[in-house]
Amino acid sequence: AAMAGAEVASAQPPPDVDTDECLREYRHLFSPDILAGQVAFITGGGSGIGFRIAEIFMRHGCRTVIASRNLQRVAEASKKLVAATGQQCLPLSIDVRQPQTIVAAVDEALKEFERIDILVNNAAGNFLCPASALSFNAFKTVIDIDTLGTFNTSKVLFEKYFRDHGGVIINITATLSYRGQALQVHAGAAKAAIDAMTRHLAVEWGPKRIRVNSLAPGPIAGTEGYRRLGGKFAEEGSHLAMIPLQRAGNKTEIAHSTLYLASPLSSYVTGTTLVVDGGSWLTSANNFPALLDFWAAGANTN
Ligand code: NAP
Repeated sequence: AAMAGAEVASAQPPPDVDTDECLREYRHLFSPDILAGQVAFITGGGSGIGFRIAEIFMRHGCRTVIASRNLQRVAEASKKLVAATGQQCLPLSIDVRQPQTIVAAVDEALKEFERIDILVNNAAGNFLCPASALSFNAFKTVIDIDTLGTFNTSKVLFEKYFRDHGGVIINITATLSYRGQALQVHAGAAKAAIDAMTRHLAVEWGPKRIRVNSLAPGPIAGTEGYRRLGGKFAEEGSHLAMIPLQRAGNKTEIAHSTLYLASPLSSYVTGTTLVVDGGSWLTSANNFPALLDFWAAGANTN
């Protein structure tokens, strides 16, 4: 009976909230001081998955920098994070497509905290669109934000701090390209390029004691991505039952896996992709006609 109980708990989601608010309750599973004294730079940390990663890191002793285009958004997020965790959080404005804005933000962060140990490349843009309706510019924009943005931010952090001190880079990618997900050629191609970048940088920067890994989430409830990319469609159509673990994931589960990759628990892990999707990509429908109908009905325009 004890063993059966343990099995159930190991696939049980931790509590989460669907909005960009901090958790009302939190039980530490890892040591609460596992990131004590460290500083994490999280792009897109003002919303969704990035916000929860910032919160969970801060609950484990880490100070954070959360950076995205909308300064008001990250400033408000920072207030919530500080109130919930008692840790410091510096909100900064960057556009990952513009290297000079990253340079300015990293300079500011180093002035404030004097170190950066962890980079989470989480900023991204996505929407559903069949290739036939995708403009040249829409494809380019997704590559610019996701792929070039990840390279730009990694390179600035390397030059400003990691080259001389080591560090950890975690790139948030996706499973879209594994089976050629319908309506996702732009994001699938962008994220596949990031997974390749993860391996290249792990090889070149390993000797500098920099670990580089990807984390590929599956469908994660309570996020902009889930709302835009057919989360409701999945819930209504019994598609969640096709996922081996029979449910969507939550933001805390992604944050916990990111915490593992950022922590010394993964000290020998580099150049790989951790898929955190309940087994979803193995079994979920990749039904082009059904998704095309969903898209044509306008459910993508929110
Ligand atoms: P989200 O809330 O929309 O987060 C994206 C963040 O990126 C926003 O905070 C946005 O802030 C920022 N951002 C966008 N463009 C930027 C730019 N040019 N420069 C700097 N920051 C920029 O989405 P999410 O669903 O939490 O997704 C987070 C990550 O998980 C993404 O990499 C996504 O691809 C990945 N993912 C999510 C799911 C899911 O189910 N949600 C599944 C697979 C992968 P500003 O608007 O203020 O710039």
